[in-house]
Amino acid sequence: MRVSKLIAATVLAALSSTSMAQTLRPDQAAFRELYKELVETNTTQSEGSCTLASERMAARLKAAGFADSDITLFATPEKPKDGGLVAVLKGTSKTAKPILLLAHIDVVEARRADWVRDPFTLIEEGGYFYARGAADDKSQAAIWTDAMIRFKKEGFKPKRTVKLALTCGEESVGAFNGAEWLAINKPDLIAAEFALNEGGGGRLDTSGKKVSLSMQVGEKTVQNYLLETTNPGGHSSVPRPDNAIYSLTAAVTKVGQYEFPIQFSDTTRTFFKRTAELTGGEMGKALTAVLANPDDKAADAIVSKDASFHSMLRTTCVATMLDAGHAMNALPQRARAVVNCRVFPGVSVDTVKAELDRIIGDPSVSVTKIEPIRPMAVPPPLSPKVFGPAEKLAAKHFPGVPMIPVMSTGGTDAPYLSLAGIPTYGMPGIFQQLEGSGVHGLNERISVKSLYEGRDYLFALAKIYANQD
Ligand SMILES: [Zn+2]
Repeated sequence: MRVSKLIAATVLAALSSTSMAQTLRPDQAAFRELYKELVETNTTQSEGSCTLASERMAARLKAAGFADSDITLFATPEKPKDGGLVAVLKGTSKTAKPILLLAHIDVVEARRADWVRDPFTLIEEGGYFYARGAADDKSQAAIWTDAMIRFKKEGFKPKRTVKLALTCGEESVGAFNGAEWLAINKPDLIAAEFALNEGGGGRLDTSGKKVSLSMQVGEKTVQNYLLETTNPGGHSSVPRPDNAIYSLTAAVTKVGQYEFPIQFSDTTRTFFKRTAELTGGEMGKALTAVLANPDDKAADAIVSKDASFHSMLRTTCVATMLDAGHAMNALPQRARAVVNCRVFPGVSVDTVKAELDRIIGDPSVSVTKIEPIRPMAVPPPLSPKVFGPAEKLAAKHFPGVPMIPVMSTGGTDAPYLSLAGIPTYGMPGIFQQLEGSGVHGLNERISVKSLYEGRDYLFALAKIYANQD
């Protein structure tokens, strides 16, 4: 009895797992093929080619009916493998402005030897897709490309022109960045009222239950600064009172002890208000207190125990690298530190430099901005035209799951689009467990169910935006 029950259960499980694979709708099966091709096209800086991935996606768009003139493949002679593409689906309205679907197609390096499975083969296992880029950001790149293909095949005639941009260089500092290149060199091609980007999502708890949805509305700017001090040095057997290492470490310590003042944007104000309601308890009370009075140090101390809340409340600067001295038996002639700052939207990198100079208060320690020097992050407005439809549609697709606008403390390509005057939003819809997603790390994965659900939501949402006046 027990055994037969066990066998029955095993057979049932086997049946349901095969039927799971077989019950993909035809449109989902087509999506899976596209996603697989994109993921399996290596797009790392070292060995991959975004240009090849773009050509492959262009071929699919053309097969769906896009004319050659609707597709722009771009790359520069200096960086022939870092290309991208823009595809355009013409809208019917003469007045409604276009929308832009943006995704980066480059991925972080992944070494086969370190991974359990081949990072450049799409492997479906235990309810997850495993591969480098399975989540970041090829899930979204595939969803947008697939949406354009379905729009075309359906004969969808949107009011707005819908544009797709697949770009390279998001993951590597100093690489050729396709979003930046387009914003500077082809602003008309990508011109849009707003862009839909990565950075939003949804959170699953450890049991797989949907906890919350987020739309990214604004992000901090990354800027690195070099702290440097020099000294005549000399023989270490005769120390002198002034010492490059001591000057530098004193400066670094001051940076470490300094807290930038609390600031709010429309996004973070809404985020903390909703988070306070959802969290309750001591944290909820402290969040409410900080919102009412940013100078409430006791409340700040409670809120700031959460490292990401701490970072969302202010500009942060942290020492990340040290380099000093030239010999064990010599007084140091030079000492340097890199301080990595995450600058609150609306604050310039020069303002932060002036603040670092002030708190260090030692003219012998110079503070300089390290290239690349970032433009000031302009926070996109928390527009009801963008947030409203996303929230309303989420109530249908994910009933009972609250949606919260968030300001990212990390970075995406969004600031580059602000060079072309395009406010950019990180879309909700793809649910992830924070733990074990492997994004940027080992064995990157995404829940198969989350990906298909997110795709349905994002397709419907893009369609709603596309038909706005
Ligand atoms: Zn990434």
